[in-house]
Amino acid sequence: PAENAYQYPLLIKSLLLSGQRYERSREIVYRDRLRFDYRTLNQRIARLANVLTAAGVKAGDTVAVMDWDSHRYLECMFAIPMIGAVVHTINVRLSPEQILYTMNHAEDRFVLVNSDFVPLYQAIAGQLTTVEKTLLLTDGEGEGAVLPDCIGEYERLLAAAAPSYAFPDFDENSVATTFYTTGTTGDPKGVYFTHRQLVLHTLAAAVTVGCRENPQLMGTGDVYMPITPMFHVHAWGLPYVATMLGLKQVYPGRYDPEALVELWRREEVTFSHCVPTIVQMLLNAKAAQGVDFKGWKITIGGSALTRGLYEAASKRGMCLVAAYGMSETCPLISGAHINDELLQASEDERIGYRLKAGVPVVLVDAAIQGPDGEFLPADGVAQGELVLRAPWLTQGYAGNPEKSEELWAGGWLHTGDVATIDEMGCIDIRDRIKDVIKTGGEWISSLALEGLISRHEAVRDVAVVGVPDERWGERPFALLVLCEGKQLDAQGLQGFLEPAVAQGHLNKWAVPQQIAVVDDIPKTSVGKLDKKRIRADIARWLSE
Ligand code: ADP
Repeated sequence: PAENAYQYPLLIKSLLLSGQRYERSREIVYRDRLRFDYRTLNQRIARLANVLTAAGVKAGDTVAVMDWDSHRYLECMFAIPMIGAVVHTINVRLSPEQILYTMNHAEDRFVLVNSDFVPLYQAIAGQLTTVEKTLLLTDGEGEGAVLPDCIGEYERLLAAAAPSYAFPDFDENSVATTFYTTGTTGDPKGVYFTHRQLVLHTLAAAVTVGCRENPQLMGTGDVYMPITPMFHVHAWGLPYVATMLGLKQVYPGRYDPEALVELWRREEVTFSHCVPTIVQMLLNAKAAQGVDFKGWKITIGGSALTRGLYEAASKRGMCLVAAYGMSETCPLISGAHINDELLQASEDERIGYRLKAGVPVVLVDAAIQGPDGEFLPADGVAQGELVLRAPWLTQGYAGNPEKSEELWAGGWLHTGDVATIDEMGCIDIRDRIKDVIKTGGEWISSLALEGLISRHEAVRDVAVVGVPDERWGERPFALLVLCEGKQLDAQGLQGFLEPAVAQGHLNKWAVPQQIAVVDDIPKTSVGKLDKKRIRADIARWLSE
């Protein structure tokens, strides 16, 4: 109504328009297949909105996407919410049963399916309870794929649709996106975010200064390539930031390390973000051998950034900096920040701060709580559960009031992570509550141990979990992947950790007595250490 005209709604369409105003001729690049400018991006998003509207999609409907990282995904992240519908970003790395569960739970009415996933889709189609229509996504090769209830192929439909659309204004508290946690235990849980939340998240991410030595998290001159799947918390929300700023954007499709390195080189990518495993994979790629990655800023999140990986990547020219968040938090909560005080500190201390979860970004409140919900001091020593308030945290888990109440107990979002906060406000994630190793009455951080072990020159990858021990409750067990041609046994590892014990950084009983050298460490659907599977594997070996 006119009397409320001053209440301008915070809608995703504003982010899109901003990018075009700044840099209408910059490009969106998809692999070696397609490139077009921001003007065309805007038209393509209008065309997609026309296609979906003509197919019967209405405000409030849920439209799901099953694709690798593509320009199409970016277009869906705008067009679907901009017509008032909800985009469900399907985690294509979940099991078919879990994908089926999430699609029925989210009540998807319409699904866009990449031809690579047509066999998977066909296998579950009979059990989908709400889907009415589908749309085929192809890179050209998959056009022959037979998809049930299909209205046509994406590029052909877009080409035939009108290039403009009068995107409406509506309530900024309308849900724009939904997706499911990676569900390492139990059924995946659905989280959801509104237009207002995504706009505020985008603005906060854009003004976040990553690190003084590494000037901006992402600046207007950067070339952006996500290496966090679009289904993993909207690629951490950064495609919205890149579009708002009008950056050149490069979408790599399915992650193949050789192709990623080639795209980085050819398109002159300067900013990416990923989980630690991906950096490891890039460094080991054949195409990366002898390559100097100077000028590539990579924000690392999703898991702790270890010093070993930081050093290995720095030697190759990459500039790594940590950030922290989770599915429930949209995700950005904090990022490493080197302030004036730290600029005076030793290099070693500065690097230490680049590896931590860092300082909460603007509008985020962070605190730590003890077991009875009491607030603990931010003195860098007291450890407690990290709890949060911010404008972009999920309201709860879709259709799960019980878990939602747990998540928001006492009016703060509970992260399930154990952290310290120091006098500078810097958050240091010690561990997930469920991964802490409880030994001899002490709590040992599996992350701290992994960090120390990662610095051994023979170690390429490491995971530490607690295994039951009659005398101590639990003892740490280390799983190691070694660099080619290198050797390390339990005794060697103990010798390596001795100085840390002598200097008081590590308790005696935190030194793993048991290790196993493996070819590969189990990872989750988004490339994080899968501690549940690791514990199960070790239990099986120990009982054999
Ligand atoms: P999942 O719980 O399935 O892994 P999320 O992507 O939501 O899915 O993971 C969030 C979790 O990842 C956090 O709760 C935290 O344990 C971990 N995490 C994220 N960023 C960091 C970081 N910088 N340091 C340590 N742990 C992190």
